[in-house]
Amino acid sequence: MEEALDVFVIGGGPTGLATAIAARLKGLRVVVADGRIPPLDKACGEGMLPDGLPAAHQLGLELEGYPIRGIRFHAENARVAAEFPQGPGLGVRRIKLHEAMVARAESLGVEMRWGAPVCSLENIDARWIVGADGTTSRVRTLAGLNATRGTLNRFGFRQHFHVAPWTNYVEIHWGRSCQIYVTPVAENEVGIALISRDPKLRVAQALAQFPELQARLAGAEPASRERGAITGNRRLRRVAHGNIALVGDASGMVDAITGEGLGLGFHQALALADALEQGDLSHYQRVHTTLSRRPRLMAQLLLTLDRWPSLRKIAIPAMASHPQVFKGLLAVHVGATTS
Ligand SMILES: Cc1cc2nc3c(=O)[nH]c(=O)nc-3n(C[C@H](O)[C@H](O)[C@H](O)COP(=O)(O)OP(=O)(O)OC[C@H]3O[C@@H](n4cnc5c(N)ncnc54)[C@H](O)[C@@H]3O)c2cc1C
Repeated sequence: MEEALDVFVIGGGPTGLATAIAARLKGLRVVVADGRIPPLDKACGEGMLPDGLPAAHQLGLELEGYPIRGIRFHAENARVAAEFPQGPGLGVRRIKLHEAMVARAESLGVEMRWGAPVCSLENIDARWIVGADGTTSRVRTLAGLNATRGTLNRFGFRQHFHVAPWTNYVEIHWGRSCQIYVTPVAENEVGIALISRDPKLRVAQALAQFPELQARLAGAEPASRERGAITGNRRLRRVAHGNIALVGDASGMVDAITGEGLGLGFHQALALADALEQGDLSHYQRVHTTLSRRPRLMAQLLLTLDRWPSLRKIAIPAMASHPQVFKGLLAVHVGATTS
């Protein structure tokens, strides 16, 4: 007789795979279904901040990428940088991250079903169903968990260029109407991610606001095609109902500018696997709320700088004059302090 299935994960992106790996490490029998077929790429800044790396290690992931020492802000009238207090983060191409996660999941015995979109929850024969199906989650709708606060009203586009990284920081360039951030991802490749409130703005147009960056990229061949996705801050009232739980972007979102989506998703996945093992999703609901608190606070701070150019024109030079303030804020951002 076939062994009963414990967990059916809908969505084989980073958080669906992280949940599958974490659940499998607890001995649960897991299937992952995704509507697409690998290699799976997605618009992402591709910075894994250091607070996400312990979760990646707990999942047993061996990630290859470009070490990132810290964050540097470039504003119209000032720049300021700080290193991560707990050691480097990692710039990692999304496709490579996905490949490494699929390999890890398969090596543990997770059953992968690619090209298998899930349209209904009715015939899923598993003790638990996990919705890891991203921003527009169908599982969220089917489970009646759509009640949200916040809106996704920012638009992200990313493209890679063949050029040797000129920095081992993630650079965030603040422009009139957008931010561009630069993540080194390999010895000869950098990722450029644009975020704005204008769905029509694209990387090439936005670069015109940043002559220094434009000069760095002059003549560099694109290494990928431009991809877009929606972002913003969104919070769900509940992330679990009955035997269904949501994880990752399906379970809410912090704006892409935080660089926290992947790390947060990995921590949620570990917490969800604990709850599945204990058979108690209320535990997951509580931990999910706690995990989201700090990234949400930092996202609000960063979006305040986005919305108020006059404040930004004062705040970034002030931090440049008092770099310890920026250092302290970065430490809070990456969870290296509770203050
Ligand atoms: C512009 C931009 C820049 C970003 N930069 C960073 C960054 O630098 N660092 C960081 O940590 N985070 C960043 N993020 C956030 C990060 O990309 C997301 O948090 C992360 O992709 C969430 O992963 P996920 O697995 O939850 O969702 P997704 O990656 O969206 O995966 C969902 C999966 O579900 C599948 N699916 C959907 N519907 C169905 C269905 N009905 N049936 C089966 N499968 C389905 C999809 O095919 C997909 O594979 C950025 C986001 C954006 C938009």
